[in-house]
Amino acid sequence: MFNTLQDRLSATFKGLRGKGRLSDSDIDAAARELRVALLEADVALPVVREFVAAVRERAKSPEVQQSVNPAQRVLDIVNEELIAILGGEARRIRLAKTPPTVIMLAGLQGAGKTTLAGKLARWLRGQGHQPLLVACDLQRPNAVNQLQIVAERAGSAFFGPEPGNGVGDPVDVARRAVAYAREKQHDVVVVDTAGRLGIDAELMQQAADIRDAVKPDETLFVVDAMIGQDAVVTAQAFLDGVGFDGVVLTKLDGDARGGAALSVAKVTGRQVMFASNGEKLDDFDVFHPDRMASRILDLGDLQTLLEGAAKVFDQQQQEDLTNKFLSGQDFTLEDFLGQMQQLRKMGSMSKIFGMLPGMGQFREQIESIDERELDRTQAMIQSMTPAERRDPKILNGSRRARIARGSGSSVSAVNDLIQRFTEAQKMMRSMASGGMPGMPGMPGF
Ligand code: GDP
Repeated sequence: MFNTLQDRLSATFKGLRGKGRLSDSDIDAAARELRVALLEADVALPVVREFVAAVRERAKSPEVQQSVNPAQRVLDIVNEELIAILGGEARRIRLAKTPPTVIMLAGLQGAGKTTLAGKLARWLRGQGHQPLLVACDLQRPNAVNQLQIVAERAGSAFFGPEPGNGVGDPVDVARRAVAYAREKQHDVVVVDTAGRLGIDAELMQQAADIRDAVKPDETLFVVDAMIGQDAVVTAQAFLDGVGFDGVVLTKLDGDARGGAALSVAKVTGRQVMFASNGEKLDDFDVFHPDRMASRILDLGDLQTLLEGAAKVFDQQQQEDLTNKFLSGQDFTLEDFLGQMQQLRKMGSMSKIFGMLPGMGQFREQIESIDERELDRTQAMIQSMTPAERRDPKILNGSRRARIARGSGSSVSAVNDLIQRFTEAQKMMRSMASGGMPGMPGMPGF
């Protein structure tokens, strides 16, 4: 997402950085570039106009003119205005005073509602809730079944129409589900409603009827970020027809231009609360406007990266490893395997690298990282015995052949791994003892 926008913005800032002082015409030129970049990214015109006008006005203020680094100040302003457009502060789900909290999902068919219900359930469970997923999409033939599967995967309870009861009445299902949740002490109810291919008055009425029956604490409008300008039109139609309190953007992992993400909050006056960026249950997060702005401006998203790391890395293991390293012991293949396994829990390597600042310029290399290469490396190390992992020097020809067979690779791939690891180990040894890496003859090498 946002690749073109990111490239365009960084070209604009590069142009500005080359200048010590910024004249009015420099700022006007940059504002024009910003405008084109945002329109190309499919951001809605009124949003672009307001954004560019605000940046231009602030950039021309004496405060910027007199600052030590005017270009940096303009970047800060663009960042602040982007955050404002994206909705300012992140907003959390409002929980009902008396449980259950009812969350209703609405949106077009294919927007990702059912997938989202599962992600939300998993996330809610992580927050200590006991969610109940409710299938009120009785329109799409397989929707009930799909939600049931998703609920199982998310480890959540499920409520649907009685089997063999014909199509059933979604309003009745929703009402009974809330009563069931109260009885079984599920504190959050997530109601998945029927989508529609286009804006359809009848189905919109159905969602409104469900809303009136269960009085949701939060109605979330789910929108596919890849549908471009249509997102704004659809959002407006749902706002008028059903009303909603928050927005969920899905498919942010796609390569579309992403203008929807930048327009919907501003146009509807409703916060984006969650973002979905993949088909797996974990590809989901609370939406933070500041982190999103940072990503768009290629300033990275270290906060999300660190939170991800805190979740997957075993604190004790990290401390043990640091101590081991400091006491001059070797970093072994066993340690390497452990680190790799934990790191990979955070997502794909390209996702992890993509969260580092300034990585926009290495996008091609990052996107071409082959995860299968990591799978192969992992398989080779896993085919070694613990003794071999601790001391690769014992790896003679027959052991190497066994590892190649066990991991489905070749002896030359095993040789290559061991050679690269031995070199890396040497380098780490020299760093640990204060020498310069990779410089023979230097102290500590
Ligand atoms: P619904 O009709 O609104 O319930 O939509 P579904 O949940 O059935 O999703 C429609 C399709 O989009 C499915 O193939 C999902 O796997 C896919 N999908 C949902 N969310 C995402 C996402 O964040 N990223 C990607 N790439 N695909 C998604």
